Amino acid sequence: MPSEQTACVFCAIAAGSAPAQVILQDPHTLCILDINPFSQGHCLVIPRRHVPWWHELSAPETASLFEIARQGANLLMEAFQPEMVTMYARGRRIPHTHIFLVPTRQGEVLDGFFNALERFQEAPTHLAGLGQPQALAEAAQRLLAAQKTR
Ligand SMILES: [Zn+2]
Repeated sequence: MPSEQTACVFCAIAAGSAPAQVILQDPHTLCILDINPFSQGHCLVIPRRHVPWWHELSAPETASLFEIARQGANLLMEAFQPEMVTMYARGRRIPHTHIFLVPTRQGEVLDGFFNALERFQEAPTHLAGLGQPQALAEAAQRLLAAQKTR
Protein backbone atom coordinates (compact mmCIF):
# COMPACT_ATOMS: atom_id res chain seq x y z
CA MET A 1 0.00 0.00 0.00
CA PRO A 2 1.44 3.40 -0.90
CA SER A 3 2.36 5.71 1.94
CA GLU A 4 0.48 8.97 2.38
CA GLN A 5 3.39 10.82 0.76
CA THR A 6 3.69 8.65 -2.35
CA ALA A 7 -0.08 8.84 -2.88
CA CYS A 8 0.00 12.63 -2.61
CA VAL A 9 -0.23 14.45 -5.94
CA PHE A 10 1.61 17.51 -4.59
CA CYS A 11 4.51 15.34 -3.35
CA ALA A 12 4.62 13.74 -6.81
CA ILE A 13 4.73 17.19 -8.43
CA ALA A 14 7.47 18.32 -6.02
CA ALA A 15 9.46 15.16 -6.87
CA GLY A 16 9.02 15.83 -10.60
CA SER A 17 7.11 12.57 -11.13
CA ALA A 18 3.75 14.21 -11.93
CA PRO A 19 3.24 16.99 -14.47
CA ALA A 20 2.51 20.59 -13.50
CA GLN A 21 2.92 24.06 -14.95
CA VAL A 22 5.52 25.46 -12.58
CA ILE A 23 5.46 29.25 -12.45
CA LEU A 24 7.91 29.93 -9.59
CA GLN A 25 10.07 27.81 -7.32
CA ASP A 26 12.76 27.94 -4.67
CA PRO A 27 14.35 25.27 -2.42
CA HIS A 28 11.22 25.06 -0.17
CA THR A 29 8.29 26.01 -2.38
CA LEU A 30 6.59 25.65 -5.77
CA CYS A 31 3.97 27.87 -7.39
CA ILE A 32 1.95 25.89 -9.96
CA LEU A 33 -1.19 26.41 -12.04
CA ASP A 34 -4.32 24.85 -10.51
CA ILE A 35 -5.77 22.31 -12.97
CA ASN A 36 -9.33 23.19 -11.84
CA PRO A 37 -9.09 26.99 -11.88
CA PHE A 38 -11.64 29.39 -10.38
CA SER A 39 -10.37 31.98 -12.86
CA GLN A 40 -7.67 32.23 -15.54
CA GLY A 41 -4.23 32.06 -13.94
CA HIS A 42 -5.41 30.53 -10.62
CA CYS A 43 -2.24 29.20 -8.93
CA LEU A 44 -1.41 27.00 -5.97
CA VAL A 45 1.61 27.61 -3.75
CA ILE A 46 2.83 24.39 -2.14
CA PRO A 47 5.76 23.45 0.10
CA ARG A 48 8.02 20.71 -1.27
CA ARG A 49 7.69 18.83 2.05
CA HIS A 50 4.47 16.95 2.85
CA VAL A 51 2.92 19.06 5.63
CA PRO A 52 -0.87 18.80 6.02
CA TRP A 53 -1.61 22.19 7.61
CA TRP A 54 0.21 25.42 6.76
CA HIS A 55 0.72 26.30 10.42
CA GLU A 56 2.85 23.16 10.85
CA LEU A 57 5.53 24.48 8.47
CA SER A 58 8.96 25.47 9.78
CA ALA A 59 9.79 29.18 9.98
CA PRO A 60 12.03 29.07 6.83
CA GLU A 61 9.32 27.13 4.92
CA THR A 62 6.71 29.68 6.01
CA ALA A 63 8.86 32.61 4.91
CA SER A 64 9.46 30.92 1.55
CA LEU A 65 5.78 30.02 1.07
CA PHE A 66 4.55 33.57 1.64
CA GLU A 67 7.35 35.14 -0.40
CA ILE A 68 6.56 32.88 -3.37
CA ALA A 69 2.84 33.67 -2.86
CA ARG A 70 3.62 37.40 -2.94
CA GLN A 71 5.70 37.06 -6.10
CA GLY A 72 3.04 34.86 -7.71
CA ALA A 73 0.29 37.36 -6.86
CA ASN A 74 2.29 40.15 -8.47
CA LEU A 75 2.79 38.04 -11.62
CA LEU A 76 -0.97 37.40 -11.72
CA MET A 77 -1.71 41.12 -11.34
CA GLU A 78 0.62 41.89 -14.23
CA ALA A 79 -0.50 39.06 -16.52
CA PHE A 80 -4.29 39.20 -15.97
CA GLN A 81 -5.02 42.61 -14.38
CA PRO A 82 -7.61 41.31 -11.90
CA GLU A 83 -9.04 43.63 -9.23
CA MET A 84 -7.00 41.67 -6.63
CA VAL A 85 -5.58 38.25 -5.92
CA THR A 86 -7.59 36.34 -3.31
CA MET A 87 -5.44 34.16 -1.06
CA TYR A 88 -6.56 31.39 1.21
CA ALA A 89 -5.17 28.14 2.55
CA ARG A 90 -7.06 24.90 3.06
CA GLY A 91 -5.77 21.35 2.85
CA ARG A 92 -8.83 19.29 3.74
CA ARG A 93 -9.31 17.69 0.31
CA ILE A 94 -5.60 17.17 -0.43
CA PRO A 95 -3.81 17.03 2.94
CA HIS A 96 -0.66 18.80 1.74
CA THR A 97 -0.53 22.53 2.46
CA HIS A 98 -1.61 24.63 -0.51
CA ILE A 99 -2.28 28.31 -0.75
CA PHE A 100 -4.81 29.38 -3.37
CA LEU A 101 -3.89 32.45 -5.40
CA VAL A 102 -6.99 33.38 -7.37
CA PRO A 103 -7.15 36.42 -9.65
CA THR A 104 -10.49 37.93 -8.62
CA ARG A 105 -12.87 40.44 -10.16
CA GLN A 106 -16.15 41.69 -8.75
CA GLY A 107 -19.01 39.28 -9.37
CA GLU A 108 -16.84 36.26 -10.20
CA VAL A 109 -17.40 32.88 -8.50
CA LEU A 110 -14.91 33.34 -5.67
CA ASP A 111 -15.97 36.95 -5.08
CA GLY A 112 -19.57 35.79 -4.71
CA PHE A 113 -18.51 32.98 -2.38
CA PHE A 114 -16.58 35.27 -0.03
CA ASN A 115 -19.33 37.91 -0.14
CA ALA A 116 -21.81 35.21 0.93
CA LEU A 117 -19.43 34.09 3.68
CA GLU A 118 -19.12 37.66 4.96
CA ARG A 119 -22.91 38.08 4.98
CA PHE A 120 -23.23 34.75 6.82
CA GLN A 121 -20.64 35.88 9.38
CA GLU A 122 -23.07 38.53 10.65
CA ALA A 123 -26.22 36.40 10.64
CA PRO A 124 -26.18 33.52 13.17
CA THR A 125 -26.86 34.57 16.75
CA HIS A 126 -24.11 32.33 18.18
CA LEU A 127 -21.57 34.10 15.95
CA ALA A 128 -22.98 37.52 16.88
CA GLY A 129 -22.38 36.51 20.51
CA LEU A 130 -18.70 35.89 19.76
CA GLY A 131 -18.41 39.52 18.68
CA GLN A 132 -19.64 40.91 22.02
CA PRO A 133 -16.99 42.70 24.12
CA GLN A 134 -17.04 40.02 26.86
CA ALA A 135 -16.55 37.20 24.31
CA LEU A 136 -13.77 39.08 22.52
CA ALA A 137 -12.03 39.67 25.87
CA GLU A 138 -12.26 35.95 26.66
CA ALA A 139 -10.81 35.01 23.24
CA ALA A 140 -7.94 37.47 23.69
CA GLN A 141 -7.29 36.11 27.19
CA ARG A 142 -7.08 32.52 25.87
CA LEU A 143 -4.69 33.53 23.08
CA LEU A 144 -2.46 35.49 25.43
CA ALA A 145 -2.40 32.54 27.85
CA ALA A 146 -1.41 30.22 24.97
CA GLN A 147 1.36 32.63 24.03
CA LYS A 148 2.78 32.40 27.58
CA THR A 149 3.06 28.60 27.37
CA ARG A 150 5.23 28.72 24.22
ZN1 LIG B 1 2.29 15.66 -0.09
